[in-house]
Amino acid sequence: MERISHWIGGKLVPGESGRTGPVFDPAAGTQTHEVDLASAGEVDVAVEAARDAFAGWRSTSLSRRSDILFRLRDLVDRHRREIGALITQQHGKVLSDAMGEVARGLENIEFATGVPHLSKGGFSEQVSTGVDTYSIRQPLGVVAGITPFNFPAMVPMWMFANAIACGNAFILKPSEKDPGASMLLAELVTEAGVPDGVFNVVQGDKVVVNRLLEHPEVRAISFVGSTPIARYIYETGTKHGKRVQALGGAKNHMVVLPDADIDMAADAAVSAGYGSAGERCMAISVVVAVGDVADPLVEAIAARLPALQIGPGMDPESEMGPLVTQQHLDKVASYLESAPAQGATLVADGRRHERYGDAGFFLGVSLLDHVTTEMDAYRDEIFGPVLSLVRVPTYADAVRLVNDNPYGNGTAIFTRDGGAARRFQFEVEAGMVGVNVPIPVPVGYYSFGGWKQSLFGDTHMYGPDGIHFYTKQKVVTARWPDPGTSAVDLGFPRTR
Ligand code: NAD
Repeated sequence: MERISHWIGGKLVPGESGRTGPVFDPAAGTQTHEVDLASAGEVDVAVEAARDAFAGWRSTSLSRRSDILFRLRDLVDRHRREIGALITQQHGKVLSDAMGEVARGLENIEFATGVPHLSKGGFSEQVSTGVDTYSIRQPLGVVAGITPFNFPAMVPMWMFANAIACGNAFILKPSEKDPGASMLLAELVTEAGVPDGVFNVVQGDKVVVNRLLEHPEVRAISFVGSTPIARYIYETGTKHGKRVQALGGAKNHMVVLPDADIDMAADAAVSAGYGSAGERCMAISVVVAVGDVADPLVEAIAARLPALQIGPGMDPESEMGPLVTQQHLDKVASYLESAPAQGATLVADGRRHERYGDAGFFLGVSLLDHVTTEMDAYRDEIFGPVLSLVRVPTYADAVRLVNDNPYGNGTAIFTRDGGAARRFQFEVEAGMVGVNVPIPVPVGYYSFGGWKQSLFGDTHMYGPDGIHFYTKQKVVTARWPDPGTSAVDLGFPRTR
């Protein structure tokens, strides 16, 4: 069985803990690799390598860092397909989707090439007679990123591009379910000219996470994953004095007003609900149908489902691949039992969708109608190809529903009424809002983050917030007086 190991100090380092985890090809349902699960001691080795590399990297000129990031940008661009194929083989999503993931990750490297401009401070001349004040932003030191299975290349790029551009040394702890892409990224980072030890990958599970959370040399943690773990990371990391941004789970609502174009709304709901088999933190999982739009909308969504091609991600005919593991598939399928038992209508049952072969973690697309807020299918983040439809009488009920939900990642409104959309944008409690856009993931020069239980911490990820997160501010007050004018003055410093 092929092994996936660590990348420490610019080279491949085989694991020595004796612990490994299985990596599957979800389309075949078989194990293809073993991933090394590091011990706390192996984490310490990576932190040491990062700490040793930090001093030289932070002294490297901004132009040189930018130059290296330009080279990394080109390398990732050239290896798009290879990275995409690794994602598809271990995550299951279709290749076009995996390459879309790489493209969106690449935006973050492109943004980070602008670090000379992005990290500029401020300067105020003559704040007092002969005195100037200026602010500079400096890197934190060793920083770590802990990432989820559903974006094995993009989410690491959300983090490390800005982190290393700002002069930090970075340790990535990828998801143990699909760690392959992280190793190819590490090779490319090294090939681009990032000095050894500035970018490290430590494979593993909670043993690695816990050591990173308590290691005194690790100054900041970026996390993306489920809400219970995000909360734990935030609470534990901050308790150990670290800067933490922890992005959690989601339950994204798409509100459809009665004036919306039904076909456009149905296309959007199907694309955003079932793309990547619903394993996206910005997937639409609840359609909120306002007033009499519900019946025609359910009909239009249901009509589109039988034609969806479900099959292996590497097959260009496939539009949706398998789920990541059998265990996850079983959990997702359990809602197809519990929701009807709790009163929902199962309009389309993914278990009956035409299957590809007998193997693989495949589940077809499901649609639940008449879902209410008490049902498990509404309350839980299903993270699979199950779309729920909740019927509400008015716009005000729809907004109340979204705002009462404990998650606040993304949300969208579908309408032809600009005033209603403007009001929604003003009133809704979520970090990312789409107007006739079902998955409003911000481009790389804005920042990504939810509200409520979808994010713990106060900075969003990547974009300007990323630069802020990975640097600390220093403010310098300076004067160069004529020594002849110097005198003792015990008064409080004056500016006027
Ligand atoms: P997860 O929380 O199970 O795992 C995320 C990371 O945490 C992995 O690296 C994992 O090894 C580690 N981890 C898991 N259990 C741990 C524990 N007990 N202690 C310490 N570390 C632990 O999430 P996942 O299943 O890999 O990813 C799916 C989840 O991520 C969904 O909830 C999804 O909404 C969320 N997600 C959120 C965003 C966002 O931007 N808000 C983006 C992508 C995914």
